[in-house]
Amino acid sequence: MGFEFKKDKYKTVRGTYSRLMDLFCRVCGKKILVYQKDGPGNLRRLYFDRIFYPKNLTNLETKPLKTIPTLSCPKCKEDIGTPYIYKKENRKAFKIYQDMLVKKIIKLK
Ligand SMILES: [Zn+2]
Repeated sequence: MGFEFKKDKYKTVRGTYSRLMDLFCRVCGKKILVYQKDGPGNLRRLYFDRIFYPKNLTNLETKPLKTIPTLSCPKCKEDIGTPYIYKKENRKAFKIYQDMLVKKIIKLK
């Protein structure tokens, strides 16, 4: 399967280093989404335009913020994050509750 990182102005700001990661629910281990993380640092928010999976969580950046529900685990229903606008970049994202996601970096061939 082919895969290409998203390259845009946000990525340029953070440098050239991107990783693709699987994110899992801390409580039950269910896979929640696939995410492209640009640059170093901890995962404090999930930008909508960097979510690759599942389909119902992709392209959220094109939708009004108030139509987007809280991010929760489909299995154990634990709340994971809340939608907001990251003011510094005027960019829609989920603000993640402390340590609610476990990340595993996907090795690309
Ligand atoms: Zn869960």
